[in-house]
Amino acid sequence: MSLAIALDGPAGAGKSTIARRAAKELNFIYVDTGALYRAIGLAASRSDIEPAESEDVSSLLANITVELKFNDKGEQIVLLNGEDVSGLIRTPEASMMASKISAVPSVREFLLDLQRDIAYKNNVIMDGRDIGTVVLPGADVKIFLTASPDARASRRYKELCDKGMDVKYEDILNDVITRDYNDSHRDVSPLKPAEGCITVDTTELDFEQSVNKIISVIKERI
Ligand code: C5P
Repeated sequence: MSLAIALDGPAGAGKSTIARRAAKELNFIYVDTGALYRAIGLAASRSDIEPAESEDVSSLLANITVELKFNDKGEQIVLLNGEDVSGLIRTPEASMMASKISAVPSVREFLLDLQRDIAYKNNVIMDGRDIGTVVLPGADVKIFLTASPDARASRRYKELCDKGMDVKYEDILNDVITRDYNDSHRDVSPLKPAEGCITVDTTELDFEQSVNKIISVIKERI
């Protein structure tokens, strides 16, 4: 029997960096489901498809493949039609496209079995928006990780500046607020704390404190 930790929360709460470290310490696979929505967003941009045009999105889905692979270091690689797009999907434009396309029901349906299948076969920490509510409602531990919009925007701003990207703080903050709104107001699988989840707020915590908190929450329950 595999173990599943569902980790949901808004953009920039630190889910990916925290989960990656926690997974390493617990010897679990870390699954970043946002990468799947980003890959579909990239496919839509490449084909000039508007996320709001759901018929166009459905025919796009009929013609693409999206896969997750894990290299020997356990790092996730996302393949779009066999091409490794893991780096290409990390731009602010890709974030916004992912946020829009993830509201299309057929996109969520398309990715459901893929995510469940990985969790079925491995011990996972799976991060996303609807993991505890929809993808893995029976997860062994459900965590809702959050932080204030300002704290989240500051972290993302620093991360992008460190990568050498030319970005403005105000734009990042606006993106965070817009994505929060999109994610929590869509009709299908809106972002919300799952029933029975533990909420962890990292506004006042640094990275190490956040990792320790998450690991202790998990260890207490498995
Ligand atoms: O987690 P990340 O910021 O990479 O996700 C990109 C976008 O994909 C999010 O803004 C959200 O709209 C969408 N997403 C989702 N459900 C998930 C993971 C991500 O709707 N499980």
